[in-house]
Amino acid sequence: MRVCKKCGVEKPLSEFHESKVNKGGHKPICRDCYNWNHRSDESKKRELEWLDLFNKGLKKCACCGEVYELGKFPIRGESRDGHKSYCYECQRIKALNDSRKPETKKKKRRENLLLSFLCDFSNTEVIVKSTKYLKRGIKTPQNLRCGS
Ligand SMILES: [Zn+2]
Ligand SMILES: [Zn+2]
Repeated sequence: MRVCKKCGVEKPLSEFHESKVNKGGHKPICRDCYNWNHRSDESKKRELEWLDLFNKGLKKCACCGEVYELGKFPIRGESRDGHKSYCYECQRIKALNDSRKPETKKKKRRENLLLSFLCDFSNTEVIVKSTKYLKRGIKTPQNLRCGS
């Protein structure tokens, strides 16, 4: 066992990096402290902020940046504080956006169809479908041009 010069905790030698230049063949500070010292300032700052909030039962949302109680974050077992990094509200907006994606695809399909309608009058199926859209008030997008 050996006492770390940095955190003062007594740890087994295996918790210290081996080092030929140091007395006893090991670095005077433990692996945790060593790793900590070699982290970037930004990463240290984030870690300290997280720890500080966690001790108060709080967490900062990775999406909106707001600080809430842990209860405002959905449960996620495998994360270290047991919660997701997005708050419920951001999670909800994200889910909403995800569910909107097929709608964009549908819109694209509709635009393609209307484009064929503008450019090709020989396809009856296209004409029938496009007429339906036009009757429903869906306009041909103005930026659509034949041959584009
Ligand atoms: Zn230490
Ligand atoms: Zn949020």
